[in-house]
Amino acid sequence: MLGEYTCLDCGATFDEPKRWEERHGLDTPPYEQWSGCPFCGGAYAPTIICDSCGEPITGDYVRVEPSGEHFCDSCFMLKSFGDDS
Ligand SMILES: [Zn+2]
Ligand SMILES: [Zn+2]
Repeated sequence: MLGEYTCLDCGATFDEPKRWEERHGLDTPPYEQWSGCPFCGGAYAPTIICDSCGEPITGDYVRVEPSGEHFCDSCFMLKSFGDDS
């Protein structure tokens, strides 16, 4: 089961990003807040699943129109070479 978001750094998927709060020693808001991967703290993006290999895509991907399928870079390379017959 894949999460809603994919970490762009470690490739983990998760539903809820981890949120941090930096209070800078203040007692009252506004506090500085940010979020990231709950495993490594890295940047994340909505999960996009490769329609060929079924893996979450963390790098470049290609969206194929008009089907709207997504392929990771390596699957797209394979696919385009395969279709060249
Ligand atoms: Zn991560
Ligand atoms: Zn793929």
